[in-house]
Amino acid sequence: MAPKDAALPEPSFRESVDIMFNRAVALMDLSPGLEEKIRVCNATYTVRFGVRLRGAIHTFVGYRSVHSEHMEPVKGGIRYATGVNQDEVEALAALMTYKCALVEAPFGGSKGGLCIDPRDWEEHELEQITRRFAYELAKRDLINPSQNVPAPDMGTGEREMAWIADQYRRMNTTDINSAACVTGKPVNAGGIQGRTEATGRGVQYALQEFFRHEEDKKAAGLSGTLAGKRVVVQGLGNVGYHAAKFLSQEDGSKITGIIERDGALHDEDGIDVDAVRDWIVKHGGVAGYPDASHRVNGAELLEIDCDILIPAALEGVINMSNAERIKAPLIIEAANGPVTAGADEILQKKGCVIIPDMYANAGGVTVSYFEWVKNLSHIRFGRMQRRAEEARHELIVSELERLDDMLEHRWSMTPDFKQKYLRGAGELELVRSGLDDTMRSAYQAMREVWHSRADVKDLRTAAYLVSIRKVADSYRAKGL
Ligand code: NAD
Repeated sequence: MAPKDAALPEPSFRESVDIMFNRAVALMDLSPGLEEKIRVCNATYTVRFGVRLRGAIHTFVGYRSVHSEHMEPVKGGIRYATGVNQDEVEALAALMTYKCALVEAPFGGSKGGLCIDPRDWEEHELEQITRRFAYELAKRDLINPSQNVPAPDMGTGEREMAWIADQYRRMNTTDINSAACVTGKPVNAGGIQGRTEATGRGVQYALQEFFRHEEDKKAAGLSGTLAGKRVVVQGLGNVGYHAAKFLSQEDGSKITGIIERDGALHDEDGIDVDAVRDWIVKHGGVAGYPDASHRVNGAELLEIDCDILIPAALEGVINMSNAERIKAPLIIEAANGPVTAGADEILQKKGCVIIPDMYANAGGVTVSYFEWVKNLSHIRFGRMQRRAEEARHELIVSELERLDDMLEHRWSMTPDFKQKYLRGAGELELVRSGLDDTMRSAYQAMREVWHSRADVKDLRTAAYLVSIRKVADSYRAKGL
């Protein structure tokens, strides 16, 4: 949320999403009725339930919003945080609608949340609370494989998703598709390989695609590749950790700043992401980490000189009170809504390029889609084809080896070619391939609009145009 002491009035998260939506639809020719239908959130269910814990009854408040049902099931994560409220859940549900449309995941948009700090509770207590919340949602079909399929978000992960899936299964003992009622489950409980890291992996693929386009790099005043680029990441949770890990370990980027709840770490020579993650697990925060300088006011680090800024924690962290001081020429919104509508305008004027949330963090829902399909088809991806693929590759390799013998070894294969080529794609390879393809195609759809229309000045507006067009077409096809 935006800081209370912001000098200028800041719209709420939902208002911010609406402002950005309005900017985009002003460039479209939708009828006012259809425009309004797409903008509004269809329904928000609020539930208050009591759980007996530590000898007393504790009341919890939860939400599940359904933004758009132009496609069903609707999809969106469940967040556990003390700041959860109706405005936030509705904003996140709207973003899910646009995100799913942009990456062509066949879902409407939804989101849920529970006002709770998960760190306040023991694991068995959290299980009781989660199961009760799941019960309240499932009995109203707000968790259902064909109507509403949650996933992890801030404060939740595969553990919570496994509890939710089990709770649904207990309530629907004859539903053969019960595993598809939620995604982001552990692999041994119906999940899919590569889901945990999918959102961070998607951020990496998005940046790789951005860096393939000279014109786009030029717009941000950047050049070259991701190697050596100085990256600051806010939030070393699921999304931020995986994005920072892959960028530093696979693309050669330097993580020069890590911002967490209890301050920030800074080192221009690069910070070891895994070492910091281990430190946080052991000590509960970044303070005291020995191999980088620590500052208590973490948010200040958003403003340091760097090449790429990755906000991967909360919404509204880049707002009208600090936007002017942000130096990064490229921001990739790994979190949902980290840049407010007002800040977005300021940053655009400064020439900063923003890769918008609805695209940047769509890796999660993309792989969730694969998981849902896997659950409905009741078979792991690659199970049927893998060995057949290997057998065909074996044919080619043995033919090459025969020629090699005939030519008396005047040429030979690269040492690890055989081993690499022979290997048929398993589930993880297929998930990565599907995710990479999705991130590339969606980026290309956005940049096409960005560069071909003089009235579209930024990637966010382009993203909205692409996705609103798809949602509108789908409503029109339904006869609305
Ligand atoms: P998470 O709970 O795993 O991690 C959040 C991290 O941010 C934690 O390490 C937390 O300590 C840190 N944090 C919290 N408040 C902070 C603050 N004020 N300053 C700095 N750091 C702070 O959550 P996540 O799943 O990584 O989600 C992060 C963002 O990504 C959210 O906006 C979420 O909606 C979005 N997102 C997540 C997924 C997913 O698959 N998990 C998918 C799409 C979008």
